[in-house]
Amino acid sequence: MSDTRPWLKDLSVEALRARFGERGVKPYRAEQVAEWVYGRGVEDPAAMTNLPRDLREDLAREWRWRALEVEAVERSRDGTTKARLVARDGEILEAVLIPEERRTTLCVSTQVGCPLACSFCATGKLGLRRNLSTAEIVDQVLRMRELLAPGSALTNVVFMGMGEPLLNLAAVVEAVRLLLHPRAFGLAPRRVTVSTAGVVPRIRDLLEAVPVNLALSLHATSDAVRDVLVPLNRRFPLAVLREALEDLPRIGPRHPIFVEYTLLAGVNDAPEDARRLARWLHGLHAKVNLIPFNPHPGSEYAAPGPAAIEGFLAELARRRLAVTLRRSRGDDIAAACGQLAAQGARPGPVKPALPAAEDAPGGC
Ligand code: SF4
Repeated sequence: MSDTRPWLKDLSVEALRARFGERGVKPYRAEQVAEWVYGRGVEDPAAMTNLPRDLREDLAREWRWRALEVEAVERSRDGTTKARLVARDGEILEAVLIPEERRTTLCVSTQVGCPLACSFCATGKLGLRRNLSTAEIVDQVLRMRELLAPGSALTNVVFMGMGEPLLNLAAVVEAVRLLLHPRAFGLAPRRVTVSTAGVVPRIRDLLEAVPVNLALSLHATSDAVRDVLVPLNRRFPLAVLREALEDLPRIGPRHPIFVEYTLLAGVNDAPEDARRLARWLHGLHAKVNLIPFNPHPGSEYAAPGPAAIEGFLAELARRRLAVTLRRSRGDDIAAACGQLAAQGARPGPVKPALPAAEDAPGGC
């Protein structure tokens, strides 16, 4: 018989407090549970020794605890660690740990596959299988933290893995609340970044709900090119997207929008593209991350050459844009988003590439 008990990690600490209150359990017990689960990584209620015995027994009986298990791990020479994770229903997703000199960033997935079908993306080729729950998002953090090298700590979490986070906004917001809660994961808001390909009506909703960094996967500066690279652009063209970025909560000089721009040889890497990008960003608090494309099997795109990258950078720098060049990580493993999960993908139906407008208000 299938287990229909709820997942404890679907609840923010506030929601668990409320649930305890309704049951006559002291609400502060929710913070104690959060410290055990997210602070110390203890997922067996029997080991939560500062809780009363009857509460420990209730917790074990009434809730489900581990939503994901690690199925495969690949470690790159540069320390990048990518894991294929399996959910209780057999669905496959992936998460990536990226150690750098002064921080270790975890990239988490929010959907199994993705409905947005960006033409340069391995995940986009999988289609959407389903949304991940809050418990499944949070379990990526717990499982990946267990893979950290001894002595290192997780410092940043980015929602840039498989899926479009704003098409799974409710689960993402609850997961962010757990990441930021001081008695749960306790990350500072500037350490958490949520990315979107431009689901216009939900950008403000996200920033009103949780104080995170916003990243925008832009990748092109003309509608003709972006319609191909990011088909969501057909629903929310560049002018509409640009307007939606005005006067957002939290965004300012200290909290710029991180604009992700994947450089594809001969597609969007010309000096004229850089000049158009600068014009499009004019008046916005933004920081550009240039990402030279990392080719994956089956992709029709190629990585830009060094001269094109230099030229693009120089055009942006001349216009005084804040810009960083992200060096490729994990080249020797299945590093492109969705590749590792695709290797283990289960056969089965996928949802349509572009959901209907009523399914995804403002969605792709
Ligand atoms: S780039 Fe992001 S939004 Fe586009 S298909 Fe891939 S996962 Fe989805």
